[in-house]
Amino acid sequence: MFDKVLIANRGEIALRVLRACKEMGIKTVAVYSKADKDLMHVRLADETVCIGPNPSSASYLDIPAIIAAMEITDSIAVHPGYGFLAENADFAEQVQNSGFVFIGPDPDVIRQMGDKVAAIEAMKAAGVPTVPGSDGALPDDREACIKMGNSIGFPVIIKAAAGGGGRGMRVVHTESALWNSIQVTKTEAKAAFGDDTVYMEKFLQNPRHVEVQIMSDGQGNAVHFYDRDCSLQRRHQKVLEEAPAPGIDMDVRQKVYESCVNACIEIGYRGAGTFEFLYEDGGFYFIEMNTRIQVEHPVTEMVTGIDLIKEQIRVCAGEKLSIKQEDIKLLGHAFECRINAEDAKTFMPSPGKVTQYHAPGGLGVRVDSHLYAGYSVPPYYDSMIAKVITYAEDRETALNRMRSALDELIIGGIKTNTDLQKDLVRDAEFAKGGVNIHYLEKKLGL
Ligand code: ADP
Repeated sequence: MFDKVLIANRGEIALRVLRACKEMGIKTVAVYSKADKDLMHVRLADETVCIGPNPSSASYLDIPAIIAAMEITDSIAVHPGYGFLAENADFAEQVQNSGFVFIGPDPDVIRQMGDKVAAIEAMKAAGVPTVPGSDGALPDDREACIKMGNSIGFPVIIKAAAGGGGRGMRVVHTESALWNSIQVTKTEAKAAFGDDTVYMEKFLQNPRHVEVQIMSDGQGNAVHFYDRDCSLQRRHQKVLEEAPAPGIDMDVRQKVYESCVNACIEIGYRGAGTFEFLYEDGGFYFIEMNTRIQVEHPVTEMVTGIDLIKEQIRVCAGEKLSIKQEDIKLLGHAFECRINAEDAKTFMPSPGKVTQYHAPGGLGVRVDSHLYAGYSVPPYYDSMIAKVITYAEDRETALNRMRSALDELIIGGIKTNTDLQKDLVRDAEFAKGGVNIHYLEKKLGL
């Protein structure tokens, strides 16, 4: 096992990784920007290194600064968390080339999954169900594209192979608008991602977002941890998640899980990962793979009782998967509400000093947060400051528990979206289970 791990992240996930390392007897190094010297995990880490000024481009995204911090602290491995450099193949490669371990898959696998055309190809080959589409990059041939659009059936969506973060895609409703839309998406993709490769998919009108958690050791073993429903989104940002996805036949899900496990083995995947699907009318359609631990991993931990970060560290240290599929039981239901420092109505970020902080508690309540009274939320980074997670033996009880947990939560001094979350967990449609990805924006009148 690693002697020392550097945590190349901040906020709640840095604290989450630190907790796992401590339990495993691994020494920790926290790296931080100037603005982050008072972060909770910086206080708790064995060693700390300031890696630069406030902007993330000059600190958390500064690859040479992070590698230098690994060198001076004799770190063995780096945990990238999510966001920042977590899915940056060049970072993973430079870490390896410098003689350290990147806690994640091989750079080539990150690169392959980051190219959506290549990812879809690999998934199809492994038997993962994909969205009906162009079978690779679109040719520079107007007639051929129009023919393809008609055979897939409008509306279609044009997506950049290198796209991410909800950018680089365009929905096309008619044949007459198709060619122009392809050209515009290509131009935008070239400007944003330096690659104008685009492909075409059928545009699903009212899907849910359902994703499958996996873990693989890169030595021919992979397991799944069932699924999560993350359909409540605003501008492609997840707001509230649950595990498992409600109301879907186990037979259908089981086939999808098996295809994901199979794909992990086929592509030589190592570490924690997520297969994201759109789910509509009883069918699953792969859209992309995330090659990192995700924000919403705790709901899966709650319903399986397995610490995903510890498993991730183990397999990336070269150990074989210690868990067998038959030992991973799905028990009960969990929800996660993301608490952001933002105005509940306008969604404008609301950084500043937290004057009061009281976290909810009780059986089946978990709070992953770096907050404490007196902490100042800096304006430079993502506005998520806490995740409130509840678990119970059934969905209704877990939801009731979340209502009560949110009522207990007190964050004074800054604005948060807690009221929006309180409203969502009391929404009658959401309570029934199975709302689609447009539900939240419709409810908000967007
Ligand atoms: P990104 O990497 O930018 O997040 P994704 O491929 O994951 O891109 O798609 C982001 C979102 O765009 C999805 O969650 C979904 O809301 C929408 N989307 C993508 N593909 C389709 C599709 N074929 N039909 C309908 N909506 C889609």
